[in-house]
Amino acid sequence: CGIVGYVGSQSALDVVLAGLKRLEYRGYDSAGVAVAADGGLAAAKKAGKLVNLEKALVDRPLPTGSSGIGHTRWATHGGPTDANAHPHLDNAGRVAVVHNGIIENFAALRDELAERGHRLDSETDTEVVAHLLAEEYSACADLAESMRLVCRRLDGAFTLVAVHADEPDVVVGARRNSPLVVGVGEGESFLASDVSAFIAHTRSAIELGQDQVVELRRDGVTVTDFAGNPADVRTFHIDWDA
Ligand code: GLU
Repeated sequence: CGIVGYVGSQSALDVVLAGLKRLEYRGYDSAGVAVAADGGLAAAKKAGKLVNLEKALVDRPLPTGSSGIGHTRWATHGGPTDANAHPHLDNAGRVAVVHNGIIENFAALRDELAERGHRLDSETDTEVVAHLLAEEYSACADLAESMRLVCRRLDGAFTLVAVHADEPDVVVGARRNSPLVVGVGEGESFLASDVSAFIAHTRSAIELGQDQVVELRRDGVTVTDFAGNPADVRTFHIDWDA
């Protein structure tokens, strides 16, 4: 179970896949990626080891992307299948989300979404987040704000990372009772479950606090609490060797 996010001028797909490899030691049963490219999102996901995902990407290559997110899953809700692997997308395919942890109140949220006409395709607790983000985004057109609004409705433990086709140079992350670390580079920014995923690129890091949301851009990051209040950010230097 690991998460990686990237915004910058390198190939987002390559950075995310390399980051996922560095997180393999954490154990997982499925893997997937999504990148923002050409005005849309492109995603691939596969049950099994990363090599299965890499094979799928050879058969059906994705664009390199200006931003991207990646996930290794340790299934809690729904078996380790391709459909249950992350990322999960909304019905329009405009927003993609990856998640580590458990969303305790997903069943009630799923029923609400189904009543409002959403089609849910997986057995995961995670998928509701993609649909809720799409609803909020259609009202506020701001991914970080959408994430804050959605997080306030979630119970449980989560690291969430999302990308939206309308904000191709932004990645948004959030956490509650689950880890998330930000990497601050020169003209590029990173997110991961732990620093080993991005230590090859930057040694400047920020540990996201409890109930905080981060917006990653090329030129820096913004951290707030779930209500949108700016958070105190402490940058630390990673001084151990990778
Ligand atoms: N609860 C989510 C799922 O089963 C995320 C599991 C994880 O932490 O990887 O899909």
